[in-house]
Amino acid sequence: MQLTITKSDILKPKPDDSNLGFGSIFTDHMFNMDYNPENGWHNPRIEPYAPIEMDPATAVLHYGQAVFEGLKAYKTDSGAVRFFRPKDNFRRLNRSSRMLCIPEFDEEFVFDVMKQLIALEKDWIPGAPETSLYIRPTIIATDHFLGVRASYTYRFFVILSPVGAYYSEGFNPVKIWVTKNHVRAVRGGIGEAKTAGNYAASLYAGEEANKNGYTQVLWLDGVHQKYIEEVGSMNIFFVIEDELVTPMLNGSILPGITRDSVITMAKKWDVRVSERQISIDELIDAHESGKLQEIFGTGTAAVISPVGEMKYGDRVITIGGGKVGPMANRLYQVITDIQYGRTEDAMGWIEEV
Ligand SMILES: *Cc1c(COP(=O)(O)O)cnc(C)c1O
Repeated sequence: MQLTITKSDILKPKPDDSNLGFGSIFTDHMFNMDYNPENGWHNPRIEPYAPIEMDPATAVLHYGQAVFEGLKAYKTDSGAVRFFRPKDNFRRLNRSSRMLCIPEFDEEFVFDVMKQLIALEKDWIPGAPETSLYIRPTIIATDHFLGVRASYTYRFFVILSPVGAYYSEGFNPVKIWVTKNHVRAVRGGIGEAKTAGNYAASLYAGEEANKNGYTQVLWLDGVHQKYIEEVGSMNIFFVIEDELVTPMLNGSILPGITRDSVITMAKKWDVRVSERQISIDELIDAHESGKLQEIFGTGTAAVISPVGEMKYGDRVITIGGGKVGPMANRLYQVITDIQYGRTEDAMGWIEEV
């Protein structure tokens, strides 16, 4: 496949690195590629960032057949540009695609194109501490048809957004709300896929949490409403005595790359790590007996998100005195040090552009 590159005549002014926020500024160019049954994936092109014109009957608008990824390009002090485990994101995108009946793409090809897009937009990668260029690969169903079936045609696109720290409060503990009324996903559904519908399903509980003064929702399993699954759109970890516990991948949990990095790193440090079922009752008991030391979420956007307070029914518990715990802090430091090239990448997680 031959990539075409069309450069934009007008370049946008670059934002101030110190005040970027998350996901509202986009660069000058994007990647687009189309799929139809006759040609497969075809017409890959880097072109000026532009709206996508759509027929109102376009399938994705009605039935949500869409998958996406989120990864980042980081700039080191010496100005080098690098990614953190990017191939895992493209592998997961194809895995999500399979679950949503979307045709797979050539991972090597798309990764190579993304590197070319990043190289073209390198001046958009911010240099201030904890900033990065967020990369959003997305695939949407584009048939103009109101019947319910998998689309025959698709659009693959990649957009880029310079971002600051995910949480405006910085690396500080957040307050989480355990929802008893809503579930995010169930086994046999599409909880394991990074797809638009899972986010749509999470909004109501998210609003409820926000209205009550909480930042994120802690999701319990969809069958028993008992076992802990995820927090917001992050995976979740607990430090209980000397054990690092995270819910096992059971079919309704998104297999996070940060989750895997945390598990790998903790094992390397000889921390006892368990991927297992953990119920909300076990968690409350661990808190009452003084064994629950830390809770934190993991994901690309925030890396590590410590939890300082949790509300379950009418109980409010404070974790680690509402402060960032040593495990969360150590993991955050080491992972971001690898990402920003402040320490050696002994794990082979970094890909240079
Ligand atoms: C993306 C995502 C995560 C985190 O995955 P990372 O690969 O670590 O960014 C966790 N849960 C959900 C529901 C997600 O969509």
